Amino acid sequence: METLFERSVADASKLVKLTDDDYALFQRTDEACNELLVPEFEKYMERKFDDNVPEVLKKYNLMGVPISKKYGGSGARPLVHALTLERFGQVGLGVVTFVDVHQALGSLTLQEWGSEELKQRYLTKAATGEVVLAYALTEPEAGSDPASLKTQYRKDGDNYYLNGSKYLISNGSVANRLIVFAYPEGQTKGMTAFLVDAKESGFAVDMKLEEKMGLFTSDTAMLSFTDVRVPKEDVIGEEGRGLAVAYSGLLNGRIGIASGSIGVMEDCLNQVKERVSSRTQHGKLIGKHQLIQRHVTKIASNLESSRWLVYHAALKKEEYDNTKTDLGLRAEADRISAVAKYVATRSAWDSADSAVQCFGGFGYSILSPVAKHLIDSRVARIYEGTDEVMELKIASTVLGRDFEAYR
Ligand SMILES: Cc1cc2nc3c(=O)[nH]c(=O)nc-3n(C[C@H](O)[C@H](O)[C@H](O)COP(=O)(O)OP(=O)(O)OC[C@H]3O[C@@H](n4cnc5c(N)ncnc54)[C@H](O)[C@@H]3O)c2cc1C
Repeated sequence: METLFERSVADASKLVKLTDDDYALFQRTDEACNELLVPEFEKYMERKFDDNVPEVLKKYNLMGVPISKKYGGSGARPLVHALTLERFGQVGLGVVTFVDVHQALGSLTLQEWGSEELKQRYLTKAATGEVVLAYALTEPEAGSDPASLKTQYRKDGDNYYLNGSKYLISNGSVANRLIVFAYPEGQTKGMTAFLVDAKESGFAVDMKLEEKMGLFTSDTAMLSFTDVRVPKEDVIGEEGRGLAVAYSGLLNGRIGIASGSIGVMEDCLNQVKERVSSRTQHGKLIGKHQLIQRHVTKIASNLESSRWLVYHAALKKEEYDNTKTDLGLRAEADRISAVAKYVATRSAWDSADSAVQCFGGFGYSILSPVAKHLIDSRVARIYEGTDEVMELKIASTVLGRDFEAYR
């Protein structure tokens, strides 16, 4: 029988022309996900970062999926990239977080904004997995409002020096290069993006956040920077364009998290189907009780409505990528990626909740396959733009700039 991933690939083939390379990529992704499943669950039980993920990704040549072939990646177009993240989402959002940060927030940001030299030096290594990336925007005092960040830099000769701290950074303690955002010393304008080498002196992982509600297999760290040197060649984009760099990363990242959320719903549907077709109460399979069928309908409808929306967002991103200059298309891609993230992440949470309900008491055990999706999917409504930030963003695209809640 056709799997949900095969169905998604078949649907995508009606939207774009898929190549033999794309099909080979899907095959590798599928195999990698099968290999990831058991160790990922074991790490979840141990509440540890799943260090198997980068290794399996390297083995299947999946670290550089969206990176252009010119820099050693697979050159996957946005819809193809989204489908791979969808498949990773079936394993869990811990895996998706690692992949999305390295690929969408990290690699694509470097690809879109980095100088040719920077791309030759680091993007080629990101494609093989020799370089693992993190994206450090959030600070203790600057979350939903990144423009209020406090990390600062000063220029001295051919180098910049960074001082400050970053908070809740995924891949923060496992990445060897981090995209870090800072203002010029004493200023609150002119944010700049830097590619920081984690080996530079003054860089420290102050703490790994282990007391999380879920997402145990993803690395989340608090970082500090004390006169951390960045050579001038490692500035990403022009000096002063940091906020634009940050937002373009988030546009890609949101499509990635929305795609991963589709996979979460697919796994919830699979798990629920199996459970309600095998467990009997009141003399019949629970799947034959109409109120259980309502949960099944909800998960299936959440999945179907979100899935096409995410594909639409990926296609809009590609439309913009094909021009690189059309700001109207850029705004449309940004809007639809926010809608996709908002709808898909909320739907994943809602679907995981229904899945737990269908599993009954066992659903409440962390040993059940669906509890993990419930606790992991909650964070997707917070990171890369909270529900509220998405709501304000979407409303302002309807009402117009005069109605922007903050500017
Ligand atoms: C597990 C995890 C991983 C993360 N990974 C990364 C990462 O890799 N890189 C990174 O840079 N960051 C990362 N983050 C940080 C994340 O992006 C922020 O937590 C998020 O943007 C919200 O910021 P905050 O936590 O400071 O909350 P706050 O901004 O303090 O928000 C608190 C509440 O107020 C609401 N709010 C804020 N402003 C408004 C407003 N104007 N109107 C209405 N409501 C508002 C918010 O929606 C929220 O409900 C991660 C967070 C977590 C939990």
